[in-house]
Amino acid sequence: MLRIDNLSYWEKSTYLENIDFLIIGSGIVGLTTAIFLKKKNKNYKVLVIDRGYLPTGASTKNAGFTCFGSPTELFDDLQNMNELTVWDTFSNRYMGLNTLFELVQKDKIAYRECKSWDIISSKKNNDITKDFIEYINQKAYEITGVKEIYHEDKLITSKFGFEGINTSYCNKLEGAIHTGKMIQELYKKAILNDVNVLFGMNAEKLDHSAQENVIETQFGEIKAKNTIIATNGFAKKWIKDDILPARAQVIITNEIPDLKINGTFHYEKGYYYFRNVGNRLLLGGGRNLDFKGETTEEFGSSEQIRLKLLELLKNVILPKHTYEIQDSWSGIMGVGKSKSPIIKKINNNTAIGVRMGGMGVAIGAQVGKKLADLF
Ligand SMILES: Cc1cc2nc3c(=O)[nH]c(=O)nc-3n(C[C@H](O)[C@H](O)[C@H](O)COP(=O)(O)OP(=O)(O)OC[C@H]3O[C@@H](n4cnc5c(N)ncnc54)[C@H](O)[C@@H]3O)c2cc1C
Repeated sequence: MLRIDNLSYWEKSTYLENIDFLIIGSGIVGLTTAIFLKKKNKNYKVLVIDRGYLPTGASTKNAGFTCFGSPTELFDDLQNMNELTVWDTFSNRYMGLNTLFELVQKDKIAYRECKSWDIISSKKNNDITKDFIEYINQKAYEITGVKEIYHEDKLITSKFGFEGINTSYCNKLEGAIHTGKMIQELYKKAILNDVNVLFGMNAEKLDHSAQENVIETQFGEIKAKNTIIATNGFAKKWIKDDILPARAQVIITNEIPDLKINGTFHYEKGYYYFRNVGNRLLLGGGRNLDFKGETTEEFGSSEQIRLKLLELLKNVILPKHTYEIQDSWSGIMGVGKSKSPIIKKINNNTAIGVRMGGMGVAIGAQVGKKLADLF
């Protein structure tokens, strides 16, 4: 193993010396923080490190929904949180997406404003009333300036061939991206802005003094004037706040030539989510079946959840199709009792931005901006 001490003068001076900002984590938050720091001052020397050969958390593993609020989630949140917080969260997600689109071109990340539908099972009570849709349309209009974002769509089953679905609520502004391309574009943007990114480097320990931080990695120490921790689901190591890892599992089918489904979908208050990726069907969720077991930093899958996802595909989403599962994977999110992210300074030269929940695509870039603005 080549230790930092043994690197050449050229390598040390290019990558590892006189660092103004060391960012731990190269997901959407880490990369956008780096880009916003360089926007503030192009002379900052910024290094992003990640323990994986790719970002190894959630940013390249998610479902790629650009979602900011579905009716059943809003209904649920309004039962459990105060009204101001619910609409503040909505607003942060909506603004966050706009911030992301300021950094990356929509066509480069395969963005489609393909709408979303909250689909309601015939077996479950439907809490959503006409008055509720009117209320959320008014609130959403005050934030976005767009009228009638939500409407009921009763024709969902005949349109897409679902089974056992009573009705649905459409959000005309939500859409989807290719999440791998999003991170690739952010990476390219960071490099273009003279940010250094090193993969395969694990931050093991951080020693803080008033002047600098010393970050211990498996290859030796890196010194930096400031450090920003953007490790989301793996943040427990750095702070004692309300944050836990939460694994989320996903499956994707092979190509289904006559697939009619086109858009993004939430089911059972967002505990399940699915979309088309071309003519493949991607489905994720099921954490509610075993919250305890899925509170883990370990990638992998559980048979119980996989079976439920397969059952949903067969009985509800694709009852008339034949298909195979092409790939399955999982990602690790950072969640807490609160749906708001933690964005704060831990001391004069260290900050942290974590707890993106299931909405990091929507809020990640905004969190990156706020983190850069802490300095
Ligand atoms: C299956 C799944 C589906 C999702 N679907 C959606 C969706 O459709 N829409 C949406 O908005 N959000 C979705 N999310 C949530 C979203 O992906 C996350 O909120 C977001 O990616 C978090 O970004 P991040 O940069 O904070 O963290 P991450 O992307 O997890 O990045 C953290 C990085 O820190 C690195 N790291 C950790 N510890 C260390 C260390 N000690 N040293 C060095 N590096 C370290 C990790 O390797 C990782 O790359 C989903 C998440 C999952 C898992």
